[in-house]
Parts: sequence; structure tokens; C-alpha cells
Amino acid sequence: MARYTDPVCRICRREGLKLFLKGSRCFSKKCAFERRSTPPGMNTQRRRKVSEFGMQMREKQKVRRSYSVLEKQFRNYFAKAEQHKGIAADFIVSAAVLKISRPRRPTDIPSFGTKVGDRIEVREGRRGREIFKTAAETMKSAAIPEWVSIDAAKLAGSVLAEPAREQMPLEFNEQLVVEYYSR
Ligand code: SF4
Repeated sequence: MARYTDPVCRICRREGLKLFLKGSRCFSKKCAFERRSTPPGMNTQRRRKVSEFGMQMREKQKVRRSYSVLEKQFRNYFAKAEQHKGIAADFIVSAAVLKISRPRRPTDIPSFGTKVGDRIEVREGRRGREIFKTAAETMKSAAIPEWVSIDAAKLAGSVLAEPAREQMPLEFNEQLVVEYYSR
């Protein structure tokens, strides 16, 4: 399966906001966006007029990247949400809920899909790793959305319900994304 392999902090700088793609580092002073929030590789003094299409595409990329989903999969989420009323909100919710890894099936793919009722946990034998110890500490103090439950000791989480749009923490203009795919 294709994966994004470039430094992920560039994505935050490119999209102009923190997307929290590097765990506890995102909450520390090491966060690249906190240190430098300008887009990578660009002369930031130059201001370009962004077209309507450009805005739609930028917003689409922002949502897609914040859930670590590749283009084809993201487009599939859109097609799925398109079958329901309230397409814009459903689209974002689909991307969020489906993002988390499915239980009883080993995976290290962040964009792997789940559904309501699924439980995800780190294998017992791996919980002692430094990265997971840090994650457990972060989980204890993190703001947990109402639609998931967290068991920090077991490094586990369950999807309790599909979130309402207003329960999604990141700020997106999903209407722009809908317009992008509806061209
Ligand atoms: Fe983005 Fe900062 Fe996290 Fe890097 S550390 S992924 S720049 S929020």
C-alpha cells in the first residue's frame, strides 16, 4: 500500500495549522509549526491570489492529510457520505470514525477503517516501548471526545458512537471539500 513518507511536519506548515500527526511531540516545544509556521520551500513574502479551485483543493488536502488518508481512500469516503443527507458533515465524520485501526487484526496503517463498537489497543508485549509509554502519558491529560472511550493503562480506545459534526475538534470548511469533489 502507498504511504506518505516525507516529514509530516511539513504538512502542518503547508496547510497552515497544527494537524497533530506526531503524537506527544505536537504538544511540546519541539513542534515544528510552533517554531516556524510558514509554508515550506516558499518565499512567504510573496502573496498570491488563490483561485476558488485553489481554495477548494487546499481545504480538501487539509482534511485528507489530517486523517492520514490517501487520495483514493478519501474519495471513497466522499462517495459513501454522498449517499446520505447532510453530506458535508457526514463526510468529515466518516473520515474520522473510519480512520482508526480495526481490532483483532494487526495493523500499523493509520488510515485503516473502523466502525462504531470497535476497540483498538496496543499489543500487550509492546506496551513497554518508549513511544507507547509517552503515548499513555499524553492520553491521561488529553481532551478525549465524547464519542470515544480511552483506557490509558492498556493503551486502548473504543469507538462509542459516530460523532456529530460539532464534536469534531479540527476546524474545516467541509463545504469547500464537497465543492471540490462535485466539480
Ligand atoms: Fe504538526 Fe507540530 Fe505535530 Fe509536527 S509536531 S505534526 S508540526 S503539530
